[in-house]
This record gives sequence, C-alpha cells and structure tokens, in this order.
Amino acid sequence: MAQNNNQERGFATKLLHFGAEIDEHTGASSVPVYQASTFHHHDIFNPPEYDYSRSGNPTRQALEDAITLLEGGKRGFAFASGMAAISTAFLLLSAGDHVIVTEDVYGGTYRLLTTILTRLGIESTFVDMTDLDAVKAALKSNTKAVYMETPSNPTLKITDIGAVCSWAKEKGLLTLLDNTFMTPYHQRPIEHGVDVVLHSATKFLGGHSDVLAGLAVTADESLGRRLKQLQNGLGSVLAPQESWLLMRGMKTLQARMEASERSARRMAEWLASHPEVERVYYPGLPDHPGRDIHERQSLGYGAVVSFDVGSGERAKALMSRIQLPLVAVSLGAVESILSYPAMMSHAAMPREVRYERGISDGLVRYSVGLENIEDLLDDLDSALRG
Ligand SMILES: *Cc1c(COP(=O)(O)O)cnc(C)c1O
Repeated sequence: MAQNNNQERGFATKLLHFGAEIDEHTGASSVPVYQASTFHHHDIFNPPEYDYSRSGNPTRQALEDAITLLEGGKRGFAFASGMAAISTAFLLLSAGDHVIVTEDVYGGTYRLLTTILTRLGIESTFVDMTDLDAVKAALKSNTKAVYMETPSNPTLKITDIGAVCSWAKEKGLLTLLDNTFMTPYHQRPIEHGVDVVLHSATKFLGGHSDVLAGLAVTADESLGRRLKQLQNGLGSVLAPQESWLLMRGMKTLQARMEASERSARRMAEWLASHPEVERVYYPGLPDHPGRDIHERQSLGYGAVVSFDVGSGERAKALMSRIQLPLVAVSLGAVESILSYPAMMSHAAMPREVRYERGISDGLVRYSVGLENIEDLLDDLDSALRG
C-alpha cells in the first residue's frame, strides 16, 4: 500500500519509510522481530497469511519489501548470506544450461560455478564483460544467462549494463547482476534492463560487519514466483533477528555511502600520486577506462579503492604496519577494511587465472569507512613508507 506513493519519493526517504516502518498493531517504531517458526491457524478453513517461517516470516517480509522498493523491482528475497542468494538464483538454470560470467567475478561465485554447478551440469564461460564482442562470442546454443558484476572485484572494471542487457534480451537470455559494491543508492540495475539483482548484504547494506545476509530482487512477477519457489524449496532463508539487524543497518545507507565515498575519492587521488604505489583502481579517477560508462549508469563511484604496491612482500609489509583498518575479508562497513585478494577473497582462484585477471600479489583492496580521512591517509602513508 505505502509502496505506491513511495516510488515517487527520494532514496533517503525510502530508506526510512518503506511501508512497514511502524508496527501496525502497536505503533512500535521498528518492525517487530517475529521470532517464531510457525503460526497458529485460527480458522482451519482460512489459512493465515504466514504459516511457517521458511515460507514466510513478517520480519523477513518487511526487509524483502524494503529492498524491492529500493531496487525498483517487483519481488525481493532475503537469504542467509550473499552466496545463498547467488546460488539460489543460479538454480533458476537447469542441467545442460550454459551461463556467460564476468571473468573477475567474486571468488565465492567463481568457486560455486567451477566446483559445484559443474557437477549439476550447469557450465559457464568467463569473459571480459567490458568487451561486448567477447560477450557475444561466448554465446552457445545452450546459453541461458549472463551474470555481471560491475564494478568488478577487486580491479573495479566497468561493464556497460544496458548494452549487455539489450543484447541478452535479443537472444532471450536471463540477466543477473551482483550489485554489492554499488548498492541501490548508487546503481539500480533493473532500470538498465537486468532481470535479477543480487547482493551480499553483509557488506554496505548491513554496513556494520555484524550480520551475514544476502538479497535478491526480480524485475518481474513471474521470475519472482520462480525465485520464491527456490527460496522456499532450498530453505536458504534469512532468520528474523538477522532480518531486523539488516533493516536497522539499511536506514543509514545513504548517509554512510555519501561519507565513505567522499573519503574514497580523496584516498584514490592521494594514492594516485603516492611514490610507493604503482597503480590505483577506482572508477572515479580520470584515467579509469570505464569511467564514462560508469557515470552513465551509476550515481557514484563507491567506497572501494584497490591499489598495487608492486609485490607480495610489499603488500604484506603494508598490512602488518597498518593501524586503523581491520585487515580482513569483507568490505562496506562503518570501519575501514583492508583486504588482500590474492590470499583472501580470491584464494579459491588458481594462480594463473588470478594473474590473468590482474589480481597480482601486490594488489590490496581498501574499503573506506567513516573514520576521519586525514587519519586514514596518515596511517596509510606511514604503512606504505615503512
Ligand atoms: C562478499 C561478497 C559476496 C558473497 O557474500 P556473502 O554474504 O559473504 O556470502 C558476493 N559478491 C560480492 C561482490 C561480495 O563482495
């Protein structure tokens, strides 16, 4: 109900007024945590709206409606993790199907595709998604889907979402996009033709490094029904308490993204002229090859900056000297997080494949949090200089 007039409102308003922000029964200022696995049938001839929490839970539903509103889709789904959302979405495909995947896809998605889905007869071809001809050349008679991630992780390459989607539509292919790095605040892929948007909500959406969750939003109702059947059938749902925590984090998404992005821009420019840094990857830098395309399809550059310090030894020295950021897997939190893709997110990738994709031993990824930027730069400067 509240959703109709809500579509017209600004993003910051939608984050706070998503339809279920006031509890209907008590007026409580947040969605109640319905910590229940099942629901009493008051009238056996008239089943209640919710009957079992795997199939539906009011707290999870409030979150699912919120992400649907924010992405501008038709149906939303919450999962136990980003990988639960992604693997459930891949099961829209069947044995014998082929999918074209962005080559620098998230490490866990790479592992899912190459070690699990292959056993189920779903095959994939990894391509440089920034090159539309390469995408087209990967088409086979059994191709059913295209899977994108832009900016990609960790080298932040940009895919032209609209161009890939219009070609995919022509060929009758399903399109999926992992929107974790941008969030719906910066990028709304459904507006560019994507069928299924996926999130590791563990990152920016949750925003506090305290909840593991995944989300999916479909552009249309019939895909929504198919994904609902998979979510219920596989049981990969998000628990009520986690749903509540995620909704709490999402209220401040815009405020957090704005502040972190402002600092990330500063950091990227600062790194670009730092003598100890060989190369900086950030879509907001003037020499980034995908900058124009990114600006056409996104409203910001995000809060992740990757940079190459030249060697594995130097990267390890940096990580042992750095004081402020967490040195950890993950990104998108209030606190800064420094990651080492070669040994963390992309450890599942064979070394040759990793090198081919530009994920060298000297590459580190900095997720900029809400700390004072001058402090972050001072800390980084001392750690780089040693
Ligand atoms: C972290 C991440 C995932 C996996 O999400 P989990 O919540 O850790 O399961 C998927 N895609 C991207 C881009 C990620 O950063």
